[in-house]
Amino acid sequence: MSQDLHMSSPDFQARGREAIDFIARYWETVHTRPVLSQVDPGDILKLLPLHPPLASDFPQDLAAELERVIMPGITHWQSPNFFAFFPANASAPAVLGELLSAGLGVQGMLWLTSPACTELETRVMDWLAEMLNLPHAFFSTGTGGGVIQSTASEAALVALVAARHRARTALKKLNTHPLPDFTLYTSTQAHSSIIKAAMVAGLADGPLDSAHMRLIDVDRAGRMRTDLLHDSLIADLGKGKLPFYIAASVGTTGTTSIDPVPEIAKIIRTTMKEASLPAALAPWLHIDAAHAGAAAICPELRHILNGVEDADSICLNPHKWLLTNFDCDCFFVRDRRTLIDSLSITPEYLRNNATDSGAVFDYRDWQIPLGRRFRALKLWLVIRHYGVRGLEAYIREHIRLSQIFESLVQEDPRFEIVAPRTLNLICFRLKDHPKGNFNKPLLDALNSSGKLFLTHTALPPAMGGHKCVLRMAIGATLTKESHVRAAWEEIQSHATRLLA
Ligand code: PLP
Repeated sequence: MSQDLHMSSPDFQARGREAIDFIARYWETVHTRPVLSQVDPGDILKLLPLHPPLASDFPQDLAAELERVIMPGITHWQSPNFFAFFPANASAPAVLGELLSAGLGVQGMLWLTSPACTELETRVMDWLAEMLNLPHAFFSTGTGGGVIQSTASEAALVALVAARHRARTALKKLNTHPLPDFTLYTSTQAHSSIIKAAMVAGLADGPLDSAHMRLIDVDRAGRMRTDLLHDSLIADLGKGKLPFYIAASVGTTGTTSIDPVPEIAKIIRTTMKEASLPAALAPWLHIDAAHAGAAAICPELRHILNGVEDADSICLNPHKWLLTNFDCDCFFVRDRRTLIDSLSITPEYLRNNATDSGAVFDYRDWQIPLGRRFRALKLWLVIRHYGVRGLEAYIREHIRLSQIFESLVQEDPRFEIVAPRTLNLICFRLKDHPKGNFNKPLLDALNSSGKLFLTHTALPPAMGGHKCVLRMAIGATLTKESHVRAAWEEIQSHATRLLA
């Protein structure tokens, strides 16, 4: 390939500045854009040529081209008025880390393929373990360590594969033939990624496979009921099944409920004793703290991770609520040997002296894909820019804004809060009205106004059974008190119009 096919270095610098300028201007003005994209299906496709350009066609004016073709189809996750789902934080230091990662173009599958990619990840994950006050076993200097996965879904799957490996190995040592059916436990309110992990791993035939998955009911506050977990474990053991994986949620997606992890761990211990099973056959306890886990960096909120000392793995997503743009899931295990043994396979072409020496981590063995991006760079720059104190202040401010919003809802007799607020999510609804239930129309009207974006959830019978509950998740990078107050005014005025 001749040299001049590439973008020249001066051009790259000039266009790079344009791209950064575009992002900076975007963040400055994103509050003025309708939060939810207003396009219809196919609208963006219509703006794109059917065939690729044969000759160079890089946009002359990158910003104008983005505004014409891309921005109409963007739902503005970075808007301070984005209160839907859970946040997907971006920040300047994270974007710089992402850019550097792309520019260095490193593929960090082995220590050898870029020692800095591996060792920075090891150190940054230990920093995060320290910030979360995790037990020493979860540090690289302990028996386990942390690794960056793409998503919490991948973390749940990797944990499940390690759990199955541990159970199979223990059963083989005990000369158990044939192997029993393996069963998984999580609450009805756990994220669907737990069930998907069971499907991907070939454990469950589909989302409704109740032979291999037990969805444990929750209490009034949305927490897994440990009495039902106990009954289910005992019943399954009685039928010759082996409970091998329990996924607890620290912050459910629907309402941010926090499962009682210390009690779950206690139930595991008592069940093992009642069934006279050896400790080696204890189920793997995974904690999914995808969104809420970030809050545990604040000492006064660390209690949400109580019980982690009895867990085998835990994950949280800085790409949700810790200022590090997607993708960045931090996954910690207590016993890295089991994880590595369950995922490691070494074809000849990957053999090298560093790996053979046993003195290095090859993170390809801690994940599903072989290749891996240099994601630690962005987390490193985020922690260095904000500092631990800055990150704590960031979380605390969202909690404060959530308290304000919660009080505003409580002051309006037309509305009710329908699930306990644990952190930064407020679940509320319009009370039933003689003219009907207006929650869905309210949600639709708010979202089509473009002024804010909210999503909804349905509550299980144990939590009141409401079919359409509005979720206000306050965690976007740019959200300030003024945005939260304006959102509430918007909600109130739409409610007034609907109820008139
Ligand atoms: N777990 C919980 C509790 C979540 O809320 C979510 C997504 O919102 C996930 C897991 C899945 O996250 P990811 O997209 O990183 O797989």
